Amino acid sequence: MQEVAVGHKSLADYTHLAGRGRIEEIRELAAELQGKRVLHLSATAFGGGVSEILFTLIPLMNDVGLDTHWRVIMGKEEFFNATKLLHNSLQGDPNSLSAEQWELFDEYQRLNGEALEDDWDVIIVHDPQPVGIRRIAAEHSGKWIWRCHIDLSTPNPEPIERLEPLIAEYDASVWHMEKYVPTHLKDLDGIRIVPPAIDPLSPKNMALSPEDASFVCDQFGIDVERPLICQVSRFDPWKDPIGVIDAYRQVREQIPEAQLALVGSMASDDPEGWEFFQSTYEHADSDPDIKILNNLNNVGAIEVNAFQSQADLILQKSIREGFGLTVSEGLWKSRPVIAGNVGGIPLQIVDGESGFLVDSPEQCAERSVEILKDPELGKRLGKAGKERTRERFLTPRLLADWLRIFHDLDV
Ligand code: UDP
Repeated sequence: MQEVAVGHKSLADYTHLAGRGRIEEIRELAAELQGKRVLHLSATAFGGGVSEILFTLIPLMNDVGLDTHWRVIMGKEEFFNATKLLHNSLQGDPNSLSAEQWELFDEYQRLNGEALEDDWDVIIVHDPQPVGIRRIAAEHSGKWIWRCHIDLSTPNPEPIERLEPLIAEYDASVWHMEKYVPTHLKDLDGIRIVPPAIDPLSPKNMALSPEDASFVCDQFGIDVERPLICQVSRFDPWKDPIGVIDAYRQVREQIPEAQLALVGSMASDDPEGWEFFQSTYEHADSDPDIKILNNLNNVGAIEVNAFQSQADLILQKSIREGFGLTVSEGLWKSRPVIAGNVGGIPLQIVDGESGFLVDSPEQCAERSVEILKDPELGKRLGKAGKERTRERFLTPRLLADWLRIFHDLDV
């Protein structure tokens, strides 16, 4: 397994953003956890929400005195093809793994479990890809926690039945929302509801001046004098970039000068992403005002920050969504955000107060026109969204929640 280097962060730097009370609460919670050995296990260190969160949470856990590490499981392409299928089927897709793919899945649980080194006070296993490692390597840790980043409320029954006995063996499981816990697991001990959070000081979310934002966007061919609509997300059917393009085309009928940027990184555990990138590209039909960018165009965290900061309007038109960190990222930059009324998004957006929730490309287009024609409305929504994000979705709150779980489990 590969160890991931995460760098350094200091909790004290967050005081002015999260409030003194929150920082003191964290220090108190951490006092009894000094030196505890914590291991995070995940499928990838790049792309998507899990890695985004761990790159912040782990340095802060270390800063408050825990000895925290992150390792990424081993897997060949065929394994990640199977786990992508698993991911989709757990979110409701009727296709599931073949018998051979389940065998492969089990085989990689065994290989990774046997490769697990050292002893830990607690191991946190993220998402379904490595969920079976606990059964193989139980003696390596005092406690085991499974962290679910996806929506399991309406899964395809076959894969969830296979995973349930594995999940039930953990000392605790952590979910974004109550409704994501599958029916059979609702009575388990140790269920904790903890929504994720964004790091306000990371390069992706730190304050960027309007000049710097437009300077960066200009280099990607955006006309910074014209309105910009932007969606940042993986190229994945659930994120509905095709629906975004359809909505954008309707907006253009009323606001011909509007531009669209679709920014999406490619995750190493997501082979399907490339196919979907291609179909999105074809759907854009060489429209010069639709920019489709990914990390291969050198779009990293700062560039994502610049696009989100420059946008007159941010979309996250998901059809299914575990949480949607991009929503909090947009709101934290005081941008008006229009997003799918699904999954964890309504936690972040109160419709009409801190953004708009939509159910179709038509509705998305209508709300977009409303905001682009009334900048004061956009400002009001963005400001309210920023305050909601400050209270609920910044990393210090997430850190406090994790420390509380460790306490409750007697880690
Ligand atoms: N992201 C990024 N570059 C991209 C696309 C996405 O950095 O080109 C980041 C995005 O800013 C967010 C995370 O990946 O922090 C995606 O998390 P989210 O919860 O929105 O969706 P997930 O990918 O986990 O389904």
